[in-house]
Amino acid sequence: MIRPLVLAALLSASSQVYAQSAANCETTVDGNDAMRFNVTEIKIDKACTSFTVKLTHSGKMPREAMGHNWVLAKKADVSAAANDGMKAGLANEYVQPGDTRVLAATKVIGGGGSTSVTVDTSKLAAGEEYTFFCSVPGHWTIMKGKLTIG
Ligand code: ZN
Repeated sequence: MIRPLVLAALLSASSQVYAQSAANCETTVDGNDAMRFNVTEIKIDKACTSFTVKLTHSGKMPREAMGHNWVLAKKADVSAAANDGMKAGLANEYVQPGDTRVLAATKVIGGGGSTSVTVDTSKLAAGEEYTFFCSVPGHWTIMKGKLTIG
């Protein structure tokens, strides 16, 4: 008589373990020659100790003409970080070296390219709104999206 109960308990325990390990801690964002990201919102599961963003560029144009990167900052910091990134130039991947407002950033890629960056989720707070954007000059007002953790 006790067996079905034990089995149910075991199933319950294993499904909990599965749910924890099944947190999806990576995503892919694509940029294109039309200056667009294909993703406008990313939600990170709080179970993720790190989160990997793979950036691809499905266009054909070179990085000097239509390059894209993926940069993460608090929403309130985006404008200032993007302006300093513009001054830093392509030689610095359009990110000011040592900029503490930038929480993660990839290099700038051109058409056909791909790269990735891993976000340290301990730097992110639940309830805070973050913005991911492309810091290539002229892109960040269009190529951006919302990122949250929770
Ligand atoms: Zn771009």
